[in-house]
Amino acid sequence: EDPMPTAPYMYLDGSIVPYADAKVHAFSGVVKYGCGVFEGLRAYRSASGNLLLFRLAEHIDRLRFGMKAMRYERILPHDEIEEAVVSMLRANDLREDTHVRVIAYLGGDDPLHQTGPVGLIAGALPRPSRGVGGGLHATVSSWRRIADSALPPRVKCTGNYVNNRTAEIEAVQDGYDAVLMMTADGKLAEGSGACLVLVRDGRLVTPDVGSDILEGITRDTILRLGADITDRPVAERRVDRTELFAAEEAFLCGSGQEVTPILSVDRLPVGSGEPGPVTLALQERYFAIVRGEIPEYAAWLTPVWED
Ligand code: PMP
Repeated sequence: EDPMPTAPYMYLDGSIVPYADAKVHAFSGVVKYGCGVFEGLRAYRSASGNLLLFRLAEHIDRLRFGMKAMRYERILPHDEIEEAVVSMLRANDLREDTHVRVIAYLGGDDPLHQTGPVGLIAGALPRPSRGVGGGLHATVSSWRRIADSALPPRVKCTGNYVNNRTAEIEAVQDGYDAVLMMTADGKLAEGSGACLVLVRDGRLVTPDVGSDILEGITRDTILRLGADITDRPVAERRVDRTELFAAEEAFLCGSGQEVTPILSVDRLPVGSGEPGPVTLALQERYFAIVRGEIPEYAAWLTPVWED
């Protein structure tokens, strides 16, 4: 993917500032100890030309859960975070598909057990949707996923992503598009920035929330849509590595990743090696929902413009 220019304005601690001025102190807790919490979400252009944030409320809830788990002295109110995101998008006059990044962070300096002051950053990276089709060649990492007992993946904390980055670099340098990580006891967990879903005997299967994963919002969307499309509830359970080779289909799902087929794992094709019918049906439904084409799901969308 070509790097695209980021939007010119950002939100920082109550103000809209130029991208170049969105700075935190070099000795702040987020820099030294990796104790920021963050979210990535997308906003999509609707047919009427509005910009629709997908599941913003759930992203804000997860960010606030992260602040609690990280024992921040102040958990930023829901409305303040929503206002930060919407005002930033309006300041950039954005009406095209965009990725939105939000970080709640610890400023200040020392000690290691500091719990504040708490700050908030939001910015946008205009980026088109991946759309239907395509696919990734993936590998299972030699690196294991961090465990809830040490560095909980359920908390979307900046420091956790050293683990994801280590695995992703190895995979990319070895010529793969994507990486899958296993738990310490060797069950499949997730990708470096997305959750894993398989199709087995026509049924969706995904690692359960005890498998050292981020509890993905897109994963939750797929749990709801998948049951309709396959006529069977999605199985959330421990998943073995070799199930990747037994599956008819596999895909990654995440706010940034959207729903993207996995075509092979460690050079063995998944199913036919082409995007499968269940994945394609889910993609079609997902992209219709995010663009506001299915009224039943309107509650998942936050319009940026009054129209
Ligand atoms: N797992 C990891 C490790 C991630 O970073 C992400 C992206 N936030 C996901 C899964 C997907 O989560 P979501 O669908 O909430 O974006």
